[in-house]
Amino acid sequence: TEPLLAIDDLNVRFRTEDEPVYALNGVDITIEHNEVMGIIGESGCGKSVTALSVLQLLQSPPAEIIGGEIRYKGENLLERSDSEMDEIRGNEISMIYQDPMKALNPVLTIGQQVTEPLLAHRDVTKDEAIDEAIEMLRACGLADAERLVDEYPHSLSGGMRQRVMIAMGLITKPDLLIADEPTTALDVTTQAKILDLLEDISDEFDMSIMYISHNLATVSEVADRITVMYAGTVAERCTMNELFELPLHPYTRKLIESIPKLDTVHERLPAIEGSVPTFNEPPSGCPFASRCPQYIGSACDEVVPQAQPPGEAYDVEAEHTVACHLYTDASSEKPPWTTEEQ
Ligand code: SF4
Ligand code: MG
Repeated sequence: TEPLLAIDDLNVRFRTEDEPVYALNGVDITIEHNEVMGIIGESGCGKSVTALSVLQLLQSPPAEIIGGEIRYKGENLLERSDSEMDEIRGNEISMIYQDPMKALNPVLTIGQQVTEPLLAHRDVTKDEAIDEAIEMLRACGLADAERLVDEYPHSLSGGMRQRVMIAMGLITKPDLLIADEPTTALDVTTQAKILDLLEDISDEFDMSIMYISHNLATVSEVADRITVMYAGTVAERCTMNELFELPLHPYTRKLIESIPKLDTVHERLPAIEGSVPTFNEPPSGCPFASRCPQYIGSACDEVVPQAQPPGEAYDVEAEHTVACHLYTDASSEKPPWTTEEQ
């Protein structure tokens, strides 16, 4: 059956004053019903652009979607009209952001804001909407919801505001919640609570989540499957378990190495050397080539690696794909971490 969301060969380009920037170059992501899909990658890898494309919230110009499909329940969202997208946005598909202060309106009460999507998309009275808002705020861990609906955002703590934003995103019981770095601004304890909340709620409401983060440790708390993005492409995709058991892409392995251990949480992360490239034309080789410790020569520079299963020599789950020439016929070598184990 068709997944809830299928992003298929998505290509997005930004027109700038001088050269265009190819921000997404053939991104494929699927999200099943009632699944949490983690999207991980460094800033600038195209995570947010992908999320905004789904809801058609990219500023155009400069952004233009130059290819691909975004199928939601089997229908291509890119063919929807503005008014059809208005019906989907904040209703069937909601989005929550890193910074609740940007998403919340300082001059409206919490109640006014959390009820807004309901009043826009459902046939309910204000009183009914307020009742539902109170219930949802409570479900989001705000016990004092009855009082909170009359408060303004500035009187709440960061963690409470994040919960309010989640309540606002969930009030219509969407099929898909897009969460873009929703816990980044919070302290570690609050982060953990918000992640628990999202997990509980996705089960309770039978909802799928596209969980975007640059922090693999955070994503691994909530995700069932994971898509590793690099420079506007998908480097690897697999289940969360398999990501740690058998990471295949050199970039994925770097990301895993950079997760802070519990006892060194205050130390600087070992950063991956170099920076994410930007493309002024579609990439002509592997986007990771300039930083890759396993670089194997001209194939990496000249042939764009396609996402595919790594081959029968690797004992991975069927859906595990990797875009790297170490796993294609372009290479006769095999990466040491997998050959040792065979
Ligand atoms: Fe490294 Fe080459 Fe694989 Fe790219 S294709 S990740 S450069 S080995
Ligand atoms: Mg971002």
